[in-house]
Amino acid sequence: MLYQRSSALFKDAQEYIPGGVNSPVRAFKSVGGTPIFIKKAEGAYIYDEDGRAYVDYINSWGPMIIGHTDPRVLNATVEQMKNGFSFGTPTELETEIAKLITSVVPNIDMVRMVNSGTEACMSAIRLARGYTNRDKIVKFEGCYHGHSDSFLIKAGSGAATFGNPNSPGVTQGTAKDTLLAEYNNLDAVKELFEQNKDQIAAIIVEPIAGNMGCIVPDKGFLEGLRTICDAHNALLIFDEVMTGFRQAMGGTQERLNIKADIVTFGKVIGGGFPVGAFAARKEIMSHLAPLGPVYQAGTLSGNPIAMRAGLTTLNIINNDRELFNRIDKATEILDTEMTKIFKEKGIPVHTNRLGSMLSVFFTEQDQIRNFTDVTNCNHERFNKFFHHLLTNEVYIAPSGYETWFISDAIKDAEINKTLEAVRSFEG
Ligand code: PMP
Repeated sequence: MLYQRSSALFKDAQEYIPGGVNSPVRAFKSVGGTPIFIKKAEGAYIYDEDGRAYVDYINSWGPMIIGHTDPRVLNATVEQMKNGFSFGTPTELETEIAKLITSVVPNIDMVRMVNSGTEACMSAIRLARGYTNRDKIVKFEGCYHGHSDSFLIKAGSGAATFGNPNSPGVTQGTAKDTLLAEYNNLDAVKELFEQNKDQIAAIIVEPIAGNMGCIVPDKGFLEGLRTICDAHNALLIFDEVMTGFRQAMGGTQERLNIKADIVTFGKVIGGGFPVGAFAARKEIMSHLAPLGPVYQAGTLSGNPIAMRAGLTTLNIINNDRELFNRIDKATEILDTEMTKIFKEKGIPVHTNRLGSMLSVFFTEQDQIRNFTDVTNCNHERFNKFFHHLLTNEVYIAPSGYETWFISDAIKDAEINKTLEAVRSFEG
């Protein structure tokens, strides 16, 4: 049996951890089968408890952009650890990483570090509400901004995968302040602003969506959001948890040249450690405690070990300006070659790609622009594809509502291994 030890470990885990996992999508509930338990990772590969090595396209859901267990990050982090694990005081390191982030990300002067993308987005909307003195926010169907209450209204990622995008436990009072629009539909957003005059604090958006699979913004969509926010004195929040330091050093703001008012980060910013951040220009950030009245805090925020891992990773990316070209090119080759193979086989697919984010949708639709389009894809075939790749030691996210993340460790050998696996898929 391929996954013997994983199966035994999963059985045991289910006794003590709800569903056997600490984050739902890891459970393989929608694709079926046993989640694989990973023992270690290096470069482009993760190694399971049964001794199999997989080409990794999950990369911890995005953070491992330079590959797993990079020796430079490992050494810097181990050295840092020798000075202590956590102080709960300011450190020089926090200013260093803040200086780097504010120097490479456009339109921000100050940054506050937190411990996850959820915290970053939760804090960003509190800040936007405090700054504008308004209660409502606009979010898009299928976008995921973490699991805080305001966002679990038609949420993407695991919430979409398991068919519970509106979670019980979120009060009506909270839900009523989250207004929903379809992604890539500016008219829907305009209508919400007409119906809720002077009540909307902010629009929060994944500027390149990754939590309903990869959905690329239509030309003019983000620009339109900017215009609407300006016209109504609302803030535009870019959730760059996935796209930050991946689409470009300055994230989507740089890549697509659109200005956001508040930006949130996660994933790459921590180099694999639990880090998130939110940032804005000084005028907005000065509303945050202890400078201003909007409260936000964290015992482990700015943890020195996590900061060292993050800073080292960001410096590596920042000093290697060819990196984004390389991962984008690898993703393009994968996309083009896979599409060719599917075409030869007569399997209808549509792929969406921007930079090093990619999704394969099994569908006859010639465009996938929003959550409804994704829902209408053939998810049964996706599940078969997922298991076929897994059997062939290629690991993609276990859901048709997720994105592939390509790392710089993925080279020709890994791409060829992946294409071989795709070639033997029977549909
Ligand atoms: N925003 C986006 C765009 C995300 O992709 C995620 C996580 N996948 C989050 C927020 C939440 O981040 P975390 O899981 O670190 O809380």
